Amino acid sequence: SPTLGILGGGQLAQMLALAALPLGVRVVVLEPDPQAPARLCAEHLRAPYTDPAGLERLAACDAVTLEFENVPVEALAALSGRVPVRPGGELLARSKHRAREKEALRAAGVETAPFVTVEGEADLTGALEAVGGRGILKTSELGYDGKGQVRVSGDAELRQGWEALGRVPCVLEGFVSFEREVSLAVARTASGEVAFGPLVENVHRAGILRTSLFPTAAPEGTEDRARESARAVAEAWGLEGLLTLEFFQLPDGGLLVNEVAPRVHNSGHLTQDGGGVSQFGAQVRAVLGLPLTDWAPLLPCAMVNIVGTANGAAPNWAAIDALPGTRRHLYHKAPRPGRKVGHVNLVAPDRETLRERLARLETLIP
Ligand code: ATP
Ligand code: MG
Ligand code: MG
Repeated sequence: SPTLGILGGGQLAQMLALAALPLGVRVVVLEPDPQAPARLCAEHLRAPYTDPAGLERLAACDAVTLEFENVPVEALAALSGRVPVRPGGELLARSKHRAREKEALRAAGVETAPFVTVEGEADLTGALEAVGGRGILKTSELGYDGKGQVRVSGDAELRQGWEALGRVPCVLEGFVSFEREVSLAVARTASGEVAFGPLVENVHRAGILRTSLFPTAAPEGTEDRARESARAVAEAWGLEGLLTLEFFQLPDGGLLVNEVAPRVHNSGHLTQDGGGVSQFGAQVRAVLGLPLTDWAPLLPCAMVNIVGTANGAAPNWAAIDALPGTRRHLYHKAPRPGRKVGHVNLVAPDRETLRERLARLETLIP
């Protein structure tokens, strides 16, 4: 049976492994953290990402994929030419660096918010004006869940923000007054076959994804436009594997790409329980060159993230389990404030029932 190597052993690796097993695929993860979520359902190589023996084992797999973009370049270099790494190093180099990513999105013909790159203090002059007077300063590297970004609406704030972020290379983006946030994933095999995930609507709370919903309330034609952007990026960047685009949908119906994740995405978790192929199965198939189809849920569905709270308040599991259509997905991680430790998926036979059950579910998750 084929073996898939994964760089990283977090919850995305855990769920990739859970989707790979029924496809007859075994999973090996290279992950230093002894408590990493994927430890329970995959062969766990407990070593640094650059460990020679660990990389040797991954090189013996049929293909290697990843569950986060900050993989050391040394690890990719060690695997290069020995085993297909999907997505490959060039695509990863873009998607782990906001400025390069935005430039590469524009080069692919896709629209983004106005932005200016900030490499040094001199770049701050006139920057806010250039993006419309109000913006978000984001570190070019390592940000996630809204970490490494500050909202700024004046030059003094911009300067303070840059200090607060540690004077590291940043991108200043114009503030977008969007109508809603949506996302969509695309998969592409090495032979150029393309398939799409569903258009999903996302609601954030304190910079962290709280809820995803399918289908969206976006205007007619939004999904087609999102697919067009996704296909353009997949083809221009030579995608092998799966990537997810986050979009801002504007009041006039237009779409701007916010950012790209070169992998399955938190907003796609609802595909696990909506029926049909999940995003995890789709990534496994795309990476191994197995037959690919679009993967949209067959039923209306939603997802609510479980995030560690400052006061230790926990979800009401008894009530959640008693609510029809729910399914828990726990990551076996110790809860810490602001840390994603699981999610609950919810399905319903129709949108109205989904709305009712989701309102109830939200009250059960602090
Ligand atoms: P993720 O966990 O999705 O990787 P991240 O830390 O990379 O998050 P972003 O996706 O860039 O951060 O931003 C987080 C959220 O902040 C967005 O989903 C959106 O709600 C809001 N946001 C980001 N950029 C802008 C913008 N230019 N204008 C308005 N809101 C924005
Ligand atoms: Mg991000
Ligand atoms: Mg984001």
